[in-house]
Amino acid sequence: MTDTQLVIIGSGPAGYTAAVYAARANLSPVVIAGSVTAGGELMNTTDVENFPGFPAGVQGPELMESMREQAEKFGAEVIYDDVETLKLNPGAHEIETALGARYTAKAVILATGSAYRELGLPNEKQLSGHGVSWCATCDGFFFRDQHIAVIGGGDSALEEATFLTRFASKVTLVHRRQELRASQAMQDRAQADEKLEFLFDSEVAEVHGEDSLTGLTIRNTVTGETSELPVTGMFVAIGSDPRTSLFSDQLEMRPDGYLKVEGRASKTSVEGVFAAGDVIDSVYRQAITAAGSGCAAALDAEHYLADIEAAEKPVAVEAAVAAS
Ligand code: NAP
Repeated sequence: MTDTQLVIIGSGPAGYTAAVYAARANLSPVVIAGSVTAGGELMNTTDVENFPGFPAGVQGPELMESMREQAEKFGAEVIYDDVETLKLNPGAHEIETALGARYTAKAVILATGSAYRELGLPNEKQLSGHGVSWCATCDGFFFRDQHIAVIGGGDSALEEATFLTRFASKVTLVHRRQELRASQAMQDRAQADEKLEFLFDSEVAEVHGEDSLTGLTIRNTVTGETSELPVTGMFVAIGSDPRTSLFSDQLEMRPDGYLKVEGRASKTSVEGVFAAGDVIDSVYRQAITAAGSGCAAALDAEHYLADIEAAEKPVAVEAAVAAS
């Protein structure tokens, strides 16, 4: 068992920013970054054009690697492992990883982010990796000269769709309404893309294929009429949900499934447990807001640890006097 001041769970912009601040405050944070998910969702993104400080844009993985490097430079220890169990006991929270490492922590920052949503259709999961994907930058290359469908109408869907036209012969964006949710800049770029066509008021009714995807049945959400879309690739980009399964039975949650914190601060319902990023944010969900939230969590944890250290000091002094 390794005793620590602070363990940060998660390594997106929230986790790594918390690590930079906590490391600079000499808290020697341990960041449990995840085995395959280290760096978070930005590792699956290409151009990030709206993170301040990069007028020419920056690649998502490059941004995350820089954040990790910055945190390590100040003394954060980054572990590429997954938390398997978390027991929240004020004073000594216990963390055990999948590889068997065990830690106690006086403070914990939860920055576990969010997970991609699924359509929930039969065959969708079975064909994952065989035509169905949640990550264009990871898998787009395998769909050279093929017809691909992208599902969703937000920034992620449009970003995936415009990225995929680099490889695909054609990309069809399937969205359940007439209006896109994506930002105007993203819509303008998508509309100018000649390989991209839009299927509005449409949803996927069935996913076809045994060993690999052979097509989709599309249902018109207004008329109920169905039609076939003969695609060999489907990228699902319909948003994400907060990852809370590790602690949802130990902390107060919000009715919408997000982790509850106190106002603008990062304090959860258990002493010494703080939270940051997408796991508490159902509204903004940007890399920069996650980073800001990670900073707030580190400052809150730092104040908490300073307070308990100050409270323990007189006892230590009294004990030393008594022993002499
Ligand atoms: P989102 O904004 O929540 O959009 C999800 C889209 O999927 C919506 O169009 C939604 O339809 C649709 N959808 C949801 N559930 C569905 C279902 N069961 N079946 C069919 N369609 C469904 O999620 P996101 O696009 O992943 O974006 C998340 C956040 O990240 C946003 O704040 C976004 O701005 C940000 N982001 C930014 C960038 C960038 O700036 N480069 C890139 C990616 C994401 P409705 O519209 O009908 O609700």
